[in-house]
This record gives sequence, structure tokens and C-alpha cells, in this order.
Amino acid sequence: MRKIAMLGVGYVGLVSGTGLADFGNEVICVDIDAEKIRKLKQDVLPIYEPGLLELVQKNVAQGRLSFTTDLKHSIQNSEVIFLALPTPSGPKGEVDLSYVFNAVDTIARVINGFKVIVTKSTVAVGTGDKIRDHLLAQGVSEEMFDVVSNPEFLREGSAVGDFMRPDRVVIGSRSEKALEIMKEIYRSLYLIETPIVATDIHTAEMIKYASNAFLATKISFINEIANICEKVDADVQVVAKAMGLDGRISNKFLHAGPGFGGSCFPKDTLALTKIAEGVGLHATIVEAVIEVNRLQKLRVVDKLLALLPDLKDKVIGILGLAFKPNTDDVRDAPALTVIEEILARGGRIQAYDPEAMDEMRKHFPDIKYVASSYDVMKEADALIILTEWNEFRGMNIDYIKSLMKNPILIDTRNIFDPETVMEKGFRYDCIGRKIENRARITGEQKR
Ligand code: NAD
Repeated sequence: MRKIAMLGVGYVGLVSGTGLADFGNEVICVDIDAEKIRKLKQDVLPIYEPGLLELVQKNVAQGRLSFTTDLKHSIQNSEVIFLALPTPSGPKGEVDLSYVFNAVDTIARVINGFKVIVTKSTVAVGTGDKIRDHLLAQGVSEEMFDVVSNPEFLREGSAVGDFMRPDRVVIGSRSEKALEIMKEIYRSLYLIETPIVATDIHTAEMIKYASNAFLATKISFINEIANICEKVDADVQVVAKAMGLDGRISNKFLHAGPGFGGSCFPKDTLALTKIAEGVGLHATIVEAVIEVNRLQKLRVVDKLLALLPDLKDKVIGILGLAFKPNTDDVRDAPALTVIEEILARGGRIQAYDPEAMDEMRKHFPDIKYVASSYDVMKEADALIILTEWNEFRGMNIDYIKSLMKNPILIDTRNIFDPETVMEKGFRYDCIGRKIENRARITGEQKR
């Protein structure tokens, strides 16, 4: 059991901190956002993540998990300091490490004994070395710290399960002592025989980018195949299923849709192209993945325009705002692009999401947010489904039609059966599945 400070209580920090406490460690979660800490102290989660509240409550009650805004106290009272801080895209797409180095400055100022400093944030390859150099330059002696890279692979929406039962734990370290401490922290995972990949820091940092870029590649790949399927009268869902039955390919991340979003794939793919650029290389595949994804989001709007060419003063219902189900995260969500494009053409939006409306309000305060899925369709000239929340799957198609002014449905998550919906009189489009008389989409090459 180790004493841990988790810096940052966002999606990664809160889940990791709670999970590490559940593994038996004593964890103090610290954030500069006083509002988040105030909520946590009152048993309110600042994010939506299934199963997390129960785990937080259990570990707080058992005295292993606490929350504070006091960075100095948390750092001084811990042996291991995890950095679960934002690493957004910088102005040129490179990873912005300012949050990480602000925290490292704080550590340099208050360090009072040996600490293992662990980057859980996704950071550029070489950041571990830079943290070390930075601390040395601030006068912290070499014996006072080790730097470790321990990238996180959890997925929002299933983060608790992913953290508690990971496919692997990656630990990049140049120090045996730090490696042993890290292994002890994760000791509970030995019981379920989780592979631990112990490697150097650069390799650990690279594993995270390579993994995310590969998953993003699968998504852009199947979206590209979907677009071709539409033109050659093939069905992408059957194609993906058959591909996925091949063990070398696997069926994961082969769902055609409106493009990937979220806080990781968009920024991490971009950052990887910048890492390559920085060493005189061109990440050709990753650049293509990013471009396919940009076009895929716009393609949703093309599909709408093909069925409803003039959006001026038209009411467009949007079902689903989060970048995927079971999260309230809208960072880089396809909904952002789709809403922006519709508004730019004079359309009006009424939107619903079970969890993400507060987050979306920060981007679009003036669109209409409604209280339930069926309210989205009332008097709508078209309906677009952007997130496949379970509650949308079972909706009554006759009732939807009765509420809408104009039965146009763009099903970007392929949740409805095209034939059934079209038999009911909808003008319908989806992604990559066969439909009769698909409206011709023009202009997609020019964007
Ligand atoms: P987030 O924005 O949700 O949370 C980051 C938190 O850090 C915020 O609450 C912020 O207030 C806090 N913070 C900023 N500066 C601080 C400081 N000096 N001291 C203490 N707290 C501070 O971010 P996130 O989604 O949890 O991502 C964190 C990192 O993990 C990123 O590098 C991300 O790429 C990576 N990651 C994210 C996911 C994911 O699904 N979200 C998955 C794997 C890895």
C-alpha cells in the first residue's frame, strides 16, 4: 500500500485515483478547480461515469480516498504523484504541456522527500526526460525523484471496468526502485494476471500514441469503406462483421458512423503527426485518418442537405450530443461540427442528450435543449441521430413520425432498420448500409 497524490480529478484522474484506492492504496485527489472538489466532498461527481459514484463512496467511507485543493499538502504527504492533467492540442496541433509543467513547477517548489512522479496524462514522447531536466534545473537533486510514464487506456463510459480490469498496464521507467513501487501500487491486478509491460519511458509514451492512432485508423478505415459501400450497393455492417470474424482484424472499432470525437483520438492523432514532423518524418497514414474523419463529420451534413437542401428556418432535431454513449463529454464530438454547419445555413436546432446537454450549452448556449428524446422531434423538419444511447434504440418509429413536421431521418449510428423506417414513409439515410434510391450526395470532394 502506497500513499498517492492524484493531480487532476477529470475523467482519468478521478477514475484512476478511485481505482488505485480500491486496490488498497491511500489516495488523495487534488484539483485546482475548487468547484469540482466541493462537489466531490458532497458526494456529487463532477463528471458522468457509470459505476463511479458507488466506488468513490465506498473508498471514501473506508478512509482510503479523499479530495482537496491543497496541492502542497497532497504532494508533501505522498510518495507517488500521478499527473492526470489536461494535455490539449496547442495552436499548431502539438500537445500543450503547460498544465503538466505548471504542476511540475509546484512539485519543485514544495518537494520534501523522495517522490515517484508518474505521467498518466498522454504526453509527447520525451516529456518524461523534460520533466526530469526541469526538476534538476529548478535545483531538485537527482536522489529526490524518479519519473515514470504510466499511460492510461480507459474509455469514457466504461472507465471503471477498464481501469479495474485493464488489458495491460504499461510502466516506463529507468529506475528499478520506481518500477517496484509502481508494481506494488498495481499489485491487485496480479491476481487477475494482468500483463505488465515494463519498458523505458520513451517507449511507454509512444505506446499510448500508437494505440490511439491505431484505433482511430480502424474507425476512419471503416468509415471510408462505408462511403464506398454506399456507391457500390454493398452493406458496411455485413462487411465489418465478416472482417471482424477474422481474428487478425477483430470486430472492435469497426462501426461506421459520423466520425470519431472525444478528448483523445482527435488530439492524439494530431499530436502524433507533430511528433513525426518534429523528427523530420511524415505520418502519412495518421494524416489520412484525420482527414477522413474531418470529412466524415461534414458528410453527415451533406446527407441532410441531400434530403433537405434549404435549411433556412428549418427545425433540425439532434438526438445525442456526447461523442459516444454513457458519457457527458462533448469534446470534439461530431455534434459540434454538425450543429455549427446547420446554424451557418440558417437552420434551427432542438437537441437532446441524456447527460451531455450542460456541456454542450457551454459551446452553443442559444440552441434549444429539450427535456426528452421525443421532444426533439416535435415539429422538426428533419431528425439526426448522432449518439447511440440505448434509450434511442427502442423509440417508436410511428410515434416519431407523428411528431415530426417532415419525416426525414439521418441515422448516423445505424440504429434503425432502413427498410422498416422507409416503409413507414420516412426519407431516410444512414452510414454505409443499403437503401433504395439513396439521395445523391454532392460536394463531398471539395471540402
Ligand atoms: P480533464 O480535463 O477531464 O481533467 C483534468 C483535470 O486536471 C481538470 O479537473 C483540471 O482542473 C485539473 N488540473 C489542471 N491543472 C491542475 C493542477 N496544476 N493541479 C491539479 N489539477 C489540475 O482531462 P482528462 O480527460 O481526465 O484527461 C487527462 C489526461 O489523460 C489527458 O492527457 C488525456 O489525453 C489523458 N487520457 C484521457 C482519457 C479519457 O478518456 N478522457 C483516456 C486516456 C488518457
